[in-house]
Amino acid sequence: MCGIVGYVGDSKSIEVLLGGLRRQEYRGYDSAGIAVIDVDGHLDSRKKAGKLQALVDELESNPIADGATGIGHTRWATHGGPTDRNAHPQLGDNGKLALIHNGIIENFFELKEELLAEGAVFTSDTDSEVAALLVGKAYQETKDVTEALRQVVARLHGAFTLLVVHEDQPGVVVGARRNSPLVIGLGDGENFLGSDVAAFVEHTRRAVEIGQDQIATIRTDSVSVTDFDGNPVETKEYEINWDASAAEKGGWSSFMAKEISEEPEAVAKTLLGRVVAESVRLPELDGIGDEILENIDRIVIIACGTAAYAGMLGKYAIEKWSRIPVDVELSHEFRYRDPILTERTLVVSISQSGETMDTLMAVKYAKEAGAQVLSICNTQGSSIPRESHAVLYTHAGPEVAVASTKAFLAQVTALYLLGLHLGRVRSTINPDEIAAAAAELNDIPEKIAEVLLSAASIKQLAHWMTDTKSVLFLGRNVGFPVALEGALKLKELAYIHAEGFAAGELKHGPIALIEPGQIVFVIVPSPRDPLSLHPKVVSNIQEIRARGARVIAIAEKGDAAVLPFADEVIPIPLAGSLFEPLLAVVPLHIFAMELSAAKGLDVDQPRNLAKSVTVE
Ligand code: GLU
Repeated sequence: MCGIVGYVGDSKSIEVLLGGLRRQEYRGYDSAGIAVIDVDGHLDSRKKAGKLQALVDELESNPIADGATGIGHTRWATHGGPTDRNAHPQLGDNGKLALIHNGIIENFFELKEELLAEGAVFTSDTDSEVAALLVGKAYQETKDVTEALRQVVARLHGAFTLLVVHEDQPGVVVGARRNSPLVIGLGDGENFLGSDVAAFVEHTRRAVEIGQDQIATIRTDSVSVTDFDGNPVETKEYEINWDASAAEKGGWSSFMAKEISEEPEAVAKTLLGRVVAESVRLPELDGIGDEILENIDRIVIIACGTAAYAGMLGKYAIEKWSRIPVDVELSHEFRYRDPILTERTLVVSISQSGETMDTLMAVKYAKEAGAQVLSICNTQGSSIPRESHAVLYTHAGPEVAVASTKAFLAQVTALYLLGLHLGRVRSTINPDEIAAAAAELNDIPEKIAEVLLSAASIKQLAHWMTDTKSVLFLGRNVGFPVALEGALKLKELAYIHAEGFAAGELKHGPIALIEPGQIVFVIVPSPRDPLSLHPKVVSNIQEIRARGARVIAIAEKGDAAVLPFADEVIPIPLAGSLFEPLLAVVPLHIFAMELSAAKGLDVDQPRNLAKSVTVE
């Protein structure tokens, strides 16, 4: 949450800052602001509630002089409403210092009381302003921004990334991080800081990771990183493996539309190099080692939101192939109930951004408790992989739309690969079964591409439903997490009440919700399903139809048994039962997006949400 950018270079900082904010707007869009030290060494700032465009308009009507140093912020409000005054930067040292903040300063109230007692005047309701005033105060003694920030972070509790500039030190931007993201971009005669590499990828593809509790000071010609005590730390440079165009809309109506179109590629790239000679090999797991994996007696998957539904699908596959019991837990619930973890527990965390605060904290907890931690992540060099024993990167490419689509499919693919890898290592699945499952996975990208061809009819369906107030989703076995995912997407994007249920649960309560006209999506298992769930789900359809429901079935192509009972059928290609979710979920992604668009809502930036949830 919140996008941060910092820049030192030539005199065009405004353009760089706005570009960095534009690429990170998905991280927060309550308000935006920038502060620039102009060529005469004067600090000026502008900030505006609303989306980035409001700031751009403000800068047009009320311009500031450009300079070589600046910081910029898009906010996702936690303390204080999304207003102009609460937007960042927050100022200190009588307006000579500007600070931006991502995260929450948990002890801000005590610090504020202390500052108020000293006569400080606050101009916002944010927790962040205490940091601005404290760093300003410390600067008056230290006359050095890095040192001042170092003194202040020692007093802050909570999670934060802070960036500070002071007009007495033009050409310097200082950043500090604790449990919130920050990365350095190395340019030629210019350097950058950003919440993620999207902040500067159009200028450089050379990035440097910053660890927890570290402070980075960037100048045009140097970058230095220390710990919070001032000791220099070794840094690791890496090459960003995607270019700026990958994070552009490229002619699509929304990032989400583009990212759904990339779902086949996201799965294909996640499989790339991991299915070899009809088997599955994940060298990334070497960090844990086969011996440990052979002795694992339990897996706990931790994740939030969509990633947790990917985790639920992973449970079916991993248990089937590796015979290891798997629990799926929401990260934010996990660590607060004294979970039982041993050195034989493998904790698998899933986070697209690698910065999800709830999951990061759960990962740290699990590691401290002695469990092995593997992370599944889409963002190189992010915090969660850094805290894990091993990482399995999904290669879905940058995901900008707030609602996750292609990353979800890549996560499921990674979990299936993990299940096959564990099955091979533990000899719980024979080579022929691995080969058959690997072949199924290899066919998925093409089959998703086939599902995408039905986008026009799903769009039409969505357009008929703009007045719908409630939609239910039913699925059974692996169809159940798909139902949950379909419902979540609809809530997020179309602001419609939506619930996903296990179809077998229907008669235990949810059927009371069915009244004439109630729309119900049903994920129908294949008639070839070895568990024979198909007739049961078809019976469920009849039960709800008898009570007036309008049924939209997502069913295997050629499934004649479902036709007489469904109002609409969205056909998906044939696939093995475990693999159907990778196809069945695609129409639901399209449906939620189209309904949001049909209602005139912002598909990429739904209200109250932000992409990377970096606060607990
Ligand atoms: N807690 C700060 C605020 O509410 C920063 C929020 C953010 O990360 O955008 O202003």
